[in-house]
Amino acid sequence: SPVPDYLQEVLDGLVDDRSGAVADYIPDLANANPDVFGVAVTTVDGRTHSAGDDEVEFSIQSISKPFAYAAALTDRGFDAVLGTVGVEPSGEAFNELSLEGDSRRPKNPMINAGAIATHYLLSRSGASVTERVDRALEFFSELADRTLSIDESVCRSELETADRNLSIAHMLRNYGVIDSPAHDVVEGYTRQCSIKVTVRDLAVMGATLANAGVHPVTGRRVVATEVARQTLAVMTGCGMYDAAGHWLTTVGIPAKSGVAGGLLGSLPGQLGIGVVSPRLDVHGNSVRGVRMFQRMSADMGMHLMDAE
Ligand code: GLU
Repeated sequence: SPVPDYLQEVLDGLVDDRSGAVADYIPDLANANPDVFGVAVTTVDGRTHSAGDDEVEFSIQSISKPFAYAAALTDRGFDAVLGTVGVEPSGEAFNELSLEGDSRRPKNPMINAGAIATHYLLSRSGASVTERVDRALEFFSELADRTLSIDESVCRSELETADRNLSIAHMLRNYGVIDSPAHDVVEGYTRQCSIKVTVRDLAVMGATLANAGVHPVTGRRVVATEVARQTLAVMTGCGMYDAAGHWLTTVGIPAKSGVAGGLLGSLPGQLGIGVVSPRLDVHGNSVRGVRMFQRMSADMGMHLMDAE
């Protein structure tokens, strides 16, 4: 069929590009096979096509952020979430220790400060670490339409070197954004980031957001229309770290990257895309993943801002 052939052709065109480097600030990620390369696309009518390493699991990392945001909006409502975390692009690196001037809110849920605060909101007020992590696992599993699990080795390794995220959590607690011990919230957030997915999982998860919150395969409504829209809007403005503007102009697809090399795209009304290739550029985005999206966006006319 033409779609898998096309996807394979795009992979073949980029497979010789070995530029970039795997993330090593999380020691266990440095052990990842840098040559893993896979892609999957799920349409809003529920068909998935894939090529390359489409069954290889990797830790979701920051791609968990939009989905945790959707879960928090569902669990706690817009007022509570927007009162805690803003929606303004920060133009800063993912792990910047920064809050909005007057409100002391993290600027958006896609940088770590906002993502740690968003994780804190999961489930209910006063939830335990286990309750928050279980909520993320259950929600991501519903989106992926299979039971997901945590990469304990990646999680342990990240927790051993989590000083940066711990300082962010202490800052959040100092300003009253979170009200649990910093270590607990970082442990839960790190477990959320260590959930294992494949590109096929990402594609169907992204397709659910693209389909206004209705799962394209199971037909179940996973989140409200307004939650799907809010999540895609925040991904569009803030999903690609300090490369968000370049991404929006050249690719034009709401997206989120993760340091394990995953890349999620979600084109409203059309499809979800998952890509994995662990070598990253200076912004922390997958080198081949970014090129792959550039090529697919151009070939298939997927730029959001194209009038036709
Ligand atoms: N767990 C990672 C961190 O918080 C996620 C970063 C990323 O994927 O960009 O540092």
